[in-house]
Amino acid sequence: MHLSAVVQNLKPSATIAAAAKAKELKNKGVKVHEFTLGEPDFITPEHIREAAKQAMDEGHTHYTPSGGTAELKQAVCDAFKRDTGLSYQPSQVIVSNGAKHSIHNVLAALCGPGDEVIIPAPYWVSYSALVEITGATPVIVDTTEESGFCLSAEQFEAAITDKTRLLMLNNPCNPTGAAYTVEGLEALARVAVKRNIPVMSDEIYDKLIYEGSEFRSFATFGDDVAALTIIVNGVSKAYAMTGWRIGWTLAPADVSKAMDNLQSQETSNPSSISQKAAVAALTGPQECVADMLEHFAKRREYVLSRLAEIPNISLATPGGAFYAFFNVSDYFGKPLGSGKTVDNASDFCTALLEDAHVALVTGDAFGAPGYVRLSFATDLDTLKAGFDGLQKFLNP
Ligand code: PMP
Ligand code: GLU
Repeated sequence: MHLSAVVQNLKPSATIAAAAKAKELKNKGVKVHEFTLGEPDFITPEHIREAAKQAMDEGHTHYTPSGGTAELKQAVCDAFKRDTGLSYQPSQVIVSNGAKHSIHNVLAALCGPGDEVIIPAPYWVSYSALVEITGATPVIVDTTEESGFCLSAEQFEAAITDKTRLLMLNNPCNPTGAAYTVEGLEALARVAVKRNIPVMSDEIYDKLIYEGSEFRSFATFGDDVAALTIIVNGVSKAYAMTGWRIGWTLAPADVSKAMDNLQSQETSNPSSISQKAAVAALTGPQECVADMLEHFAKRREYVLSRLAEIPNISLATPGGAFYAFFNVSDYFGKPLGSGKTVDNASDFCTALLEDAHVALVTGDAFGAPGYVRLSFATDLDTLKAGFDGLQKFLNP
């Protein structure tokens, strides 16, 4: 059958593909140390699971309004007010099937052929692909390890043309863990206002911030900034709810209305049961978030200590999220532990999986050749075994 030009050029998500490759090996009976997918290993907290069971038993098993229930929209506004002090109206919230879907809605509402979207690299794999689906052009702006992988105001301004429709910002960032300083963010916000450029601020890792870093929502720098900001967030990471598929946007009312129209045609509404669970997550006890963060913080410490033992590897210390993104290019073109030689990060990951049964994601997928991503959203024993395997593989 003839495929559309859009899907002919579309690659599968590299994170999901890497996880599938690791699973294939596991299914053959091989013990694989898996660090591919960015998803918490914890089961969703009990009070959230109970809310979903209750929702089913009480008959919340029907369509809901396309952009989400009034109850969940209010819960999103209340949680945002609690976290940032900002007041949003439920009419400014659109609930979708995961934050990935929210990002698609933002791009489909704002961009089309001939438009440009600025994306700081390294970027999450789906950013560029989702821009391309709309027919717009991703304008990739490289950031450096020295800057902590943060886009500067000067870089942002230099990338703006009369075709620019949006900046896609991710703070804290997947894959680098970069957490912007308040000053750095404010400088970007001032450029956005000066040049009238909307900003999609993907804040899905806002609750996963480590000591020494601080989180500030992009919308908090004044009404003029908020009027240009579309916040993306969801329950996947903070509440260990990746499988429930609930994300949302907080945006100016006209953009929200456009995304609601789009979603009503595309998919009706996100799961009624998952929406009830998300209400429980946002309005219930928040200790579960802090408990999981404590585990992530211990794992991060462990990962950083193991990486520090490996010579000729560099990284910017992650201030947030649950990824370590490190440069392995010093190991290219030299015999590794198994005698193999690799020349790029993709071949490095393939050899690492084949020879040491350790699964990472190549930096090539994130617009950062020479780097690899390790998700530490997994237990310490797995991390230990994985690092033992990596060290042997590198034979430093
Ligand atoms: N944004 C970023 C930066 C992510 O890493 C992810 C991956 N989970 C998402 C959005 C999408 O999250 P969700 O699972 O809610 O679709
Ligand atoms: N966002 C996660 C990751 O980067 C989940 C997989 C995906 O949706 O890409 O691993």
